[in-house]
Amino acid sequence: MKSVRDSGFATQANLPSGNRVHVIGAGPVGLLITALFQSMEGFSVRLYEKRPQYTRTRMVKLSSFLVADSVESYCADHIDAENLAAVFDVAEIEETLAFRQSIPDDLMSLIREWVKGFCPLNTIEQALSNLIDNRGSNRVERIVTNVTAEQAITMLGPGDILVDCTGCKSLIRDHLATGPESGNKDANTFNIQLEYAIVVTFVYGQQYQCNEHCKYYKNEQNLHYKFIPAVDRTFYDGNLTFVSGIVNITPEDFETMPATFDGQWLRINFPQVAGSMDNFIDKIKQETHGEIIGDLDIVRIPLNLYRARNATNRNWLAAEGNDHPFTTSPVFVVGDSALGSPYFQSISLGLESAMHLAALIGQRNLQLADMLNRYELYMYKQWLRVYMRSKMIKHNKDLLETIDEPLRLLELLHIY
Ligand SMILES: Cc1cc2nc3c(=O)[nH]c(=O)nc-3n(C[C@H](O)[C@H](O)[C@H](O)COP(=O)(O)OP(=O)(O)OC[C@H]3O[C@@H](n4cnc5c(N)ncnc54)[C@H](O)[C@@H]3O)c2cc1C
Repeated sequence: MKSVRDSGFATQANLPSGNRVHVIGAGPVGLLITALFQSMEGFSVRLYEKRPQYTRTRMVKLSSFLVADSVESYCADHIDAENLAAVFDVAEIEETLAFRQSIPDDLMSLIREWVKGFCPLNTIEQALSNLIDNRGSNRVERIVTNVTAEQAITMLGPGDILVDCTGCKSLIRDHLATGPESGNKDANTFNIQLEYAIVVTFVYGQQYQCNEHCKYYKNEQNLHYKFIPAVDRTFYDGNLTFVSGIVNITPEDFETMPATFDGQWLRINFPQVAGSMDNFIDKIKQETHGEIIGDLDIVRIPLNLYRARNATNRNWLAAEGNDHPFTTSPVFVVGDSALGSPYFQSISLGLESAMHLAALIGQRNLQLADMLNRYELYMYKQWLRVYMRSKMIKHNKDLLETIDEPLRLLELLHIY
């Protein structure tokens, strides 16, 4: 049996020089952390991805805090600012900003471009992927394969690091729980099912900007299904406006819908929901005299707010007398693997967490136990930030949806 002392790691030791990092999942977060390790001395990366090509065309918006260079600009979002101040010390935000200074310019300049507006997810993925391939370094080996949890665990050799970036259905998250429950569904996942919804995205041929008045007045006759453009989800590129929002649906509606569909399918199968969409869009047209370009693009999703209770294997490392690889080598969940909220800019949080983790791992004088504890604390604080904001948005959304029924509205108001 291998003891902690015999392995490449010990809980009180620093990372040995020359580490192999296994990054599972080459979505935006896995690619970013790979690009970061690629530029750090002493690391080689094996990047595993099951998809042979990047095909996800959905538009995402990156938050400006990703490129902030001062505490003030980091806290510029007026809703987020107070939560940030409540959860993080100024020194912690300064540390986050200092980490950024060391990010190579080829990478940072891509992120600066993306925060300017909406961007298709596969554009982000392809650009990061090209950057890694074109840097002319042999530190990254890319492997196209669908890794199983068992393979991920057994591939961990002494001195290796495992970073799980496999998204919301994380490969490793539930394996970070210790004891007999380890690996069981939700063994290490705290999940709040907020609602079921369809996400409706469309392109509009004129400038259209949405605010809270718009969300109310354009839904005035929509008693049952209200279309609510999402936080930061209308974007005008000088020619067209990209609009994305959600309509709350029942669990029964959710069961009978396909995973993705268009406006025509909605009109035939859910005329009441389609009527609400058309009503909302007609009001945009009356106001700004434009037309929808193409059709509605619709995805049905359960909206979950969740986190990994353990974002690392620190509980495994504390357990002696076991030859499981998790008792010797550090493991981290990052991006959607670690936490997610439908009302938050999850991709931005994932990218920021990747930057934070790479910087922690890069500190050669940091004891392993400190590294794991610091990442856990950081992710817990990010969770608090996301939780507070998501609960507030959900509550406000519930109020807006019942605004035409004063009695139901009053039931939702907990005043003092
Ligand atoms: C409809 C919709 C709209 C969204 N809009 C926004 C938005 O506007 N703004 C925003 O911030 N976020 C948005 N998101 C969320 C955003 O897409 C995610 O936060 C982001 O993609 C997470 O990145 P990630 O790299 O952590 O995970 P993912 O993007 O899920 O990537 C995980 C990668 O791991 C790979 N993988 C998984 N399992 C394995 C395995 N076993 N072996 C090998 N590879 C594996 C997958 O193929 C994938 O490439 C949206 C999500 C949806 C569904």
